[in-house]
Amino acid sequence: MDDAILVLNAGSSSVKFALFRAETLEPLCRGGIEGIGSRASFGGAKGAEAGLFDGADLPESSNHEVATRWLLDGIRRSDRITLQAAGHRVVHGGPDFSAPVLIVNAVMTALEELIPLAPAHQPHNLAAIEAVAKAWPGLPQVACFDTAFHRTMPRLAQIFAIPHELTDQGLVRYGFHGLSYQHIADVLPSIAGEAAKGRVIVCHLGHGASLCAMSEGRSIATTMGFTALDGLVMGMRCGAIDAGLVLHLIEQRGMAPAEVSEILNRRSGLLGVSGISNDARTLLASDDPRAKEALDLFSYRVVREAGSLMAALGGLDALVFTAGIGEHSAPIRSAICRALGWAGVELDESRNATNAMRISDDAARVPVYVVPADEERPIARAVLQRMS
Ligand code: ADP
Repeated sequence: MDDAILVLNAGSSSVKFALFRAETLEPLCRGGIEGIGSRASFGGAKGAEAGLFDGADLPESSNHEVATRWLLDGIRRSDRITLQAAGHRVVHGGPDFSAPVLIVNAVMTALEELIPLAPAHQPHNLAAIEAVAKAWPGLPQVACFDTAFHRTMPRLAQIFAIPHELTDQGLVRYGFHGLSYQHIADVLPSIAGEAAKGRVIVCHLGHGASLCAMSEGRSIATTMGFTALDGLVMGMRCGAIDAGLVLHLIEQRGMAPAEVSEILNRRSGLLGVSGISNDARTLLASDDPRAKEALDLFSYRVVREAGSLMAALGGLDALVFTAGIGEHSAPIRSAICRALGWAGVELDESRNATNAMRISDDAARVPVYVVPADEERPIARAVLQRMS
């Protein structure tokens, strides 16, 4: 029997999961359940142990609790795997959780108190922890936070120029995508050698997008802020915007907060600018000038923010692309890197076209890498560390 670690990433209507062999952190399978709350369905799994989950018997009416129990029942039936612990992606660790934490009652209470900081995500993350506790009492569970990686940022990178009482109440830049950045920090030394210890900018470019400036593998600045609405242009989110514009919508246009939230979170970004799609692939395939403008703005904002992070780092030793657009879109990487030529970035376009691991020209001063995102592996690793 192999000891295994289950990793869960629970969203509002989906649960992504991955199972890792505890001894080697080798992934045994990865998969997902979709449509929770409407018509739940098993989205399939890949990997050696994918056969543990037979989609046919997942009830369509499953809520998170039923779906989690179904997953755990699949693992319980196995005569090859013994589940040792579960790890969870939890979006917000607030000011205090700067590392993964073993779940006990007091921790759950503290995490519930953070719900106002991430009302759309935190409740689902915590529901998954509760569902596992019910379905498998006594199984050790560890919470890993999207914010924790950025708690190493210096104070000036965290605070906003607002009254200090509000800063003291936790209204600061937390940053997100921390598990993705943790994974890059874990694997970059084996890919980039010495450069990984230097001044690195990681571009996590997916539906959500952010940049992280790392020094010696630790975050010193990032583009997302108090919420995941800040920073870059995203699929549907506006990214950094003049707060005065938000006030104008409320005070002069008479919009309700929910309406403004809908515009900035769901009707902006690539979708809003193009009026066509939030998906970079669709926009790349379109000859509509608005699609081009949306993509141009996306790259322009990455370049502007990268320049800002280089200033914070005092230079640049390596650039890394990860997540959907970062891993797969050669034209977008190319546009970004061309505009960063002044900083010593220069692509080898034939390597870039094939999404090679190292896409920079050998003569370039700054190496550029494409590294597949993996937000589950750092969770499994953290679970193991907490258990030992
Ligand atoms: P999420 O943030 O939801 O995890 P992903 O990391 O999967 O998102 O990234 C989704 C984005 O990646 C979408 O904009 C999609 O168009 C883009 N993407 C995925 N594959 C490609 C590709 N081959 N070329 C260009 N963009 C791609």
